[in-house]
Amino acid sequence: MGANFNDILREQLHRLFPEAKEDGASLNTSINCPLCAREGNPDHNRHMSIHLGSDGKPLLYNCWRNSGHRGLLTSSALEMLARDSMNQPDPGILEAIDEYNKQTGKISKYKLTSDSKYRIDVVQAPTTELNEIKRLYVCKRIGIDLSIEELVRDKVVFSIRDLLQRNYVQKFTRAPQILDLLDSYFVGFMTNNNGSIILRSMVHGQMELPESLSKRYVKYSIVQGAPSGYYIIPTQSNIYGHVDVHLAEGTFDILSVFYNLRNANRLNNVYGSIGGNSYASMVEYFLCTVGLIDVTFHIYIDNDIKPHVIPELKNLLQPLMIESYIHFNAKNGEKDFGVPKDRMQECVYRLT
Ligand SMILES: [Zn+2]
Repeated sequence: MGANFNDILREQLHRLFPEAKEDGASLNTSINCPLCAREGNPDHNRHMSIHLGSDGKPLLYNCWRNSGHRGLLTSSALEMLARDSMNQPDPGILEAIDEYNKQTGKISKYKLTSDSKYRIDVVQAPTTELNEIKRLYVCKRIGIDLSIEELVRDKVVFSIRDLLQRNYVQKFTRAPQILDLLDSYFVGFMTNNNGSIILRSMVHGQMELPESLSKRYVKYSIVQGAPSGYYIIPTQSNIYGHVDVHLAEGTFDILSVFYNLRNANRLNNVYGSIGGNSYASMVEYFLCTVGLIDVTFHIYIDNDIKPHVIPELKNLLQPLMIESYIHFNAKNGEKDFGVPKDRMQECVYRLT
């Protein structure tokens, strides 16, 4: 590590990219962006800058022409960048890069990856009495018996302390005693950028908690100041093909829609909860940030939705000629989809 490592990395970059050049302070090496070249837009002026890590900061590559061409320089990122090079990266440097990243990951907590996610992952939860209470709480809400493993797959967080510890995050954004209460009485849902956890109180209305935890839902920021993101059930989609996007208000609404109405279909379907945000902002997220092209939106509204919401969505989607549907639960006495299947009567109409 240290001086040795970035000399080796610099040398390696010069071997892989003959045009490479150092900046004045020798903190970065600049190369012609290979990603621009691959996109038919050859770069002759070294727009990609690669941070060499001599200051202990993460190794980042960044193209000044295209903000999509950037990320953490991992071994696989270097292999990807060097794909068209005459030379292959040395196995030794690949190992050294991963080792370096592991170290800085622990020290700096810099966790943002190329797709704007924090490098934090949900962790398996052991079968303890408390976790079993949490599992049953979720299962009861949606009326389906799911294992802890399955819920973890859906980014359900059983213990914040466990999650932080096993992701080497040492800094808490709430007081330790608050953290203990969150772990004891709340069940969590990690958001899509891994920057925060949406927590549902299991004792709301039954037990006195400190003022800051007295609401039904509480948010825990894993990364201070991070955009909170949305709760989105992990699925796989080809973003250039047709994708159905299902949006509901709360985390239990969307989980129930996923399992009870859409048969837990994880292929080319996306399921998101808007949480405290608006449907319109999440629709914009999928169109502008994710870049979905061929998409149908399904909005699962609460029956007490504010009257301006649906016209606003229509105004947003109609000019774009995007197909969309409004779904609501018409079962007597029910107000949303966050219930077991026998309490649902799904009605659908086309919005645009
Ligand atoms: Zn580029």
